[in-house]
Amino acid sequence: MAEKTVYLDHAATTPLKKEVLDEMMPFLTINYGNPSSVYSAGRTSKNAIEDARERVAKAINANINEIFFTSGGTESDNWAIRGAAYANKDKGKHIITSLIEHHAVLNTCRQLEKEGFEVTYLAPDEFGIIHEKLVEDAIRKDTILISIMFANNEIGTIQPIEGIGKIAKEKGIIFHTDAVQAIGNIPVDIKELYVDLLSISGHKFYGPKGVGVLYVKKGTKLQNYILGGAQERNKRAGTENVAGIAGIGKAIELASERLEDYEKHTRMLRDKTIEYIINNIPYVKLNGTIEKRLPGNVNIAFQFIEAESAIIMLDCKGIAASSGSACASGSLDPSHVLLAIGLPHEIAHGSLRFSFGEENTVEDIDWFLGVLKEVMIKLRTMSPLYNSLMKNQ
Ligand SMILES: *Cc1c(COP(=O)(O)O)cnc(C)c1O
Repeated sequence: MAEKTVYLDHAATTPLKKEVLDEMMPFLTINYGNPSSVYSAGRTSKNAIEDARERVAKAINANINEIFFTSGGTESDNWAIRGAAYANKDKGKHIITSLIEHHAVLNTCRQLEKEGFEVTYLAPDEFGIIHEKLVEDAIRKDTILISIMFANNEIGTIQPIEGIGKIAKEKGIIFHTDAVQAIGNIPVDIKELYVDLLSISGHKFYGPKGVGVLYVKKGTKLQNYILGGAQERNKRAGTENVAGIAGIGKAIELASERLEDYEKHTRMLRDKTIEYIINNIPYVKLNGTIEKRLPGNVNIAFQFIEAESAIIMLDCKGIAASSGSACASGSLDPSHVLLAIGLPHEIAHGSLRFSFGEENTVEDIDWFLGVLKEVMIKLRTMSPLYNSLMKNQ
């Protein structure tokens, strides 16, 4: 074991906050009543769910009857896309999304293609931005749904959601956005956007895993996805994850209270990291854009190295980082996002993501950057390509 650990993978998941656990604990122990039961133990659970619904609604400036609890970001994405597609299939069968969506969106769209829907996958520019004009041009008479993520989980690019939403609204097309990476990192105000469906996941902002939210704007035609009992006003069946729901309510409340400080802190660590790497490690390139970027996201291509080897060497020192999205790691294919912004395979294979959180200190980052530099020197001395380049200089 390394003597110290520095966790730099907040885009994959965050630790659970003590205050959030405290909020959850009664519903994992003494308050076990089923929220559908009418006696007092049931009502206690029911009240906890409705308190959480209020907290979520307040955090994104929505109405409480537009908030539905799910089992996470993946279910919210599946429900939004399948639900909107099937509820509106009489109007048309065309869906617009992008090449850089999370797999929860991409694989749902791929499945819908097999079921007779047509999907247009828009390409981002070299910085990872999906331009509004592209969306507008892709719209057809039979387009029923547009799904574009709020912020990308790998390269942190923030999309022009308000502009895309306006276009969708003008054309009367349902607009879904996967806001899983946005919530807790940048402001999200439903009233300022033109969004009909929005996905949220608890574990990306210091809440528990296995609980999420789908925001459904009043009047949006959406088919049910999980079928069964009458929970969540007949829209999402299954006995509620009361502890998880209480947890996500507390976590989103804390996240919106501390949003400004959090943004400031993570942006400072991000900029420090980018500056150090660019100035101290040769043959590197920032993936994504610096302007429209999540405050806590760094994604850098290091030439002449394999990201997987770097991850292992960093792990030996106690540093947790990522070579792509959690879903891409474990497979040998390079990230679909990095390929979509035009990186060649070997550069995509040498890309690392560091994502910061509130418990990361400046001292931790200074130490990490020193370790990173050593790791890169070590890995490059083992690279035949790098050595022959040095010889020929
Ligand atoms: C993590 C993530 C998801 C999946 O959320 P889960 O709650 O882990 O299922 C979906 N979309 C994005 C952008 C994510 O980062």
